[in-house]
Amino acid sequence: MSKNQLKGTSVAVIGAGISGLSCATQLKALGYQVQLYEKSRGVSGRMSTRNEDNWTVDHGAQYFTARDPLFIDELNNWIDAEVAASWNPHLKVFKNNQWQDSTSNENRYVGIPAMNSPSKYLAKNLPLALNQTIDQITYYQDKWYLHSLEQGDIEQRYDWLVLALPAPQSMSLAKSIDKSIERLATQANMQGCWTVMASFTENLNLPFDAAFINDEIISWISRNNSKPNRMGLETWIIHANAQWSQEWIELGKDEAAKLILDCAKRLGLDCHKAKISIHRWRYASGHTNPPPGFSLQEDLKIGFCGDWLNGGRVEGAWLSGYKLASQIESVKN
Ligand SMILES: Cc1cc2nc3c(=O)[nH]c(=O)nc-3n(C[C@H](O)[C@H](O)[C@H](O)COP(=O)(O)OP(=O)(O)OC[C@H]3O[C@@H](n4cnc5c(N)ncnc54)[C@H](O)[C@@H]3O)c2cc1C
Repeated sequence: MSKNQLKGTSVAVIGAGISGLSCATQLKALGYQVQLYEKSRGVSGRMSTRNEDNWTVDHGAQYFTARDPLFIDELNNWIDAEVAASWNPHLKVFKNNQWQDSTSNENRYVGIPAMNSPSKYLAKNLPLALNQTIDQITYYQDKWYLHSLEQGDIEQRYDWLVLALPAPQSMSLAKSIDKSIERLATQANMQGCWTVMASFTENLNLPFDAAFINDEIISWISRNNSKPNRMGLETWIIHANAQWSQEWIELGKDEAAKLILDCAKRLGLDCHKAKISIHRWRYASGHTNPPPGFSLQEDLKIGFCGDWLNGGRVEGAWLSGYKLASQIESVKN
């Protein structure tokens, strides 16, 4: 039995995106008593999948890369567990008004059968409370107390607290307790993303599976069914670029969809026969530069992890959670 198990050191992790799940998994492996709280009805945050009657689509993260040896090991676990696989789309680039084949030889990976599958796999082994929006945190006499919108005061108190949330949400919870987080979170300057999903009853005959788009309001188009193990109707996903999305984040959904679909049509993706859904991500991307990896206030026993502290993206988020857990262990001993 580890020292943490003997002492029963407890940690609450707020947010069950990939950074929170990674942090909680590592803390549990180190012997801590971990409890995750998540405001949504499922895990995975922005590494997400929308399910409708006869189609599913990854409407957040599109794919991920693996460069760090720690994350490559984790990816190999996911591949062995059949919750991730490589994705080799026919990839094009639209630039200077011209289409070119992509020259990128990046290895790209996706969750299977859906982008949220690796998170579900990690969550299986963790104590998790869903539909719990933590809206107040208090540090009193060496213990953390939580309050949730849905439940009110949470009875359990914790020795340590981890916030695995996007920068603005971390800031609003913690700024009165930890002043340094306000400065860091402001630097991250997180931006939104308008996302359109289009499902078709017939397969489209486009000369690519996915495309990076430059100099337009759209930055990415992809055919969800080109990813491994996808079922259901042919579905395409369109992301507006970060700058345009942020500028027009308060636009009505119909108006935003119209502008994005007009642009998609000019690029060859005609969606007039498709069933359309639109999603507004308020905090899609953005990170501090240089990336600190995570943030830890030892005296207050509060830590922060997430993509915004480690370069953005899935790999950075997973590593941020893992490294924060290791740091908690090293300062505690
Ligand atoms: C449109 C889009 C496209 C992207 N494309 C890519 C890509 O192609 N490749 C890539 O690598 N990355 C991509 N990303 C980024 C990637 O999704 C993120 O880097 C990663 O998923 C972030 O994980 P996280 O754990 O840091 O945060 P999140 O996934 O945001 O997790 C935070 C969790 O906290 C929960 N939460 C928030 N507030 C509270 C609260 N008060 N109480 C309880 N729970 C709360 C949220 O519901 C969420 O589940 C994309 C993101 C978006 C939105």
